[in-house]
Amino acid sequence: MRKVVIVGSGCAGNTAAIYAARANLQPLVVKGKEAGGQLSLTTLVENFPGFPEGVDGPVLVENMKKQAEHFGAEYLDGEVTEADLSSRPFRLSVDGERLETSTLIIASGASARWLGLPNEQKLIGRGVSSCATCDGFFYRDKKIMVIGGGDSAMEEANFLTRFGSEVTIVHRREEFRASKIMLDRARKNPKIKWLTSTVVEDIHDVQQGVVTGVRLRNVQTGRVWEQDVDGFFVAIGHIPNTKVFRGQIETDSEGYIVSHGGARTSVAGVFHAGDVQDRVYRQAITAAGAGCMAAIEAERFLEAEGH
Ligand code: NAP
Repeated sequence: MRKVVIVGSGCAGNTAAIYAARANLQPLVVKGKEAGGQLSLTTLVENFPGFPEGVDGPVLVENMKKQAEHFGAEYLDGEVTEADLSSRPFRLSVDGERLETSTLIIASGASARWLGLPNEQKLIGRGVSSCATCDGFFYRDKKIMVIGGGDSAMEEANFLTRFGSEVTIVHRREEFRASKIMLDRARKNPKIKWLTSTVVEDIHDVQQGVVTGVRLRNVQTGRVWEQDVDGFFVAIGHIPNTKVFRGQIETDSEGYIVSHGGARTSVAGVFHAGDVQDRVYRQAITAAGAGCMAAIEAERFLEAEGH
């Protein structure tokens, strides 16, 4: 029987673990499928306060984990495969291992949706990115491509024009899902080029270990061609990792946890932290802040019950 179980080991989960551990709650962190979260997929992080020279994403998140362990947090490999939040203690199954806990912090994040191309995963952090704010800076005067036709793609493309020599939006249809205002803003930006009814067939070059170009196909004409590119930003949405909790806590139509004030969810004793609830900011520092909030709320919740 645990006092606090934290689901997820990204920025939010690790920060919650640091705070809960320092409050003597001996939290258990279930690492999850993508241990380390989004930070483990990026290279240099230059916007996390306290690192004037920047810090590698994987190093930052590993240091957070070490810091939490230093204060007594424990980490468990694996994924929550079942959850019963209908009464307390909450019951979880982590790859078959059963756990019971008084409070639960869900910090399972949102995974970037990827195109699923053969070379895409191999080139993440080497030209392929899902986060313009994180990685845009590295493409000063370079050719950038943004995939997607929603608000994220428009926002990222606009942001990336600060850096790139040109930014090409590649979208699979003629019509855009993006809101009119975001689309208009992108259309007015002279640095943005457009390739509609176009899909990416492959990304090069795994042998060189960096993105050098892509193969594109126009879905209307069937024309296939190669195009040079240095930065390849996939902005086709995120998927919140809440599947196992669906129907048990309130989520919105896309599965993001609905906040009931602070870090509270619709279930007393279950708290949220980070991208699993935040579809707006999605930054390491905001996730860390949310992890802190969740741990403080869990601590107060337990205190009120006399633990
Ligand atoms: P989204 O609205 O779901 O758009 C995803 C886009 O990616 C769509 O254009 C979709 O194409 C395309 N796509 C999906 N799968 C694809 C695939 N396999 N291959 C190629 N293209 C693919 O996601 P989002 O842009 O991340 O936005 C999510 C939510 O956050 C929205 O509600 C949005 O309004 C909001 N948001 C708001 C702001 C803002 O207001 N500042 C900024 C960002 C996001 P189809 O259109 O053909 O399906």
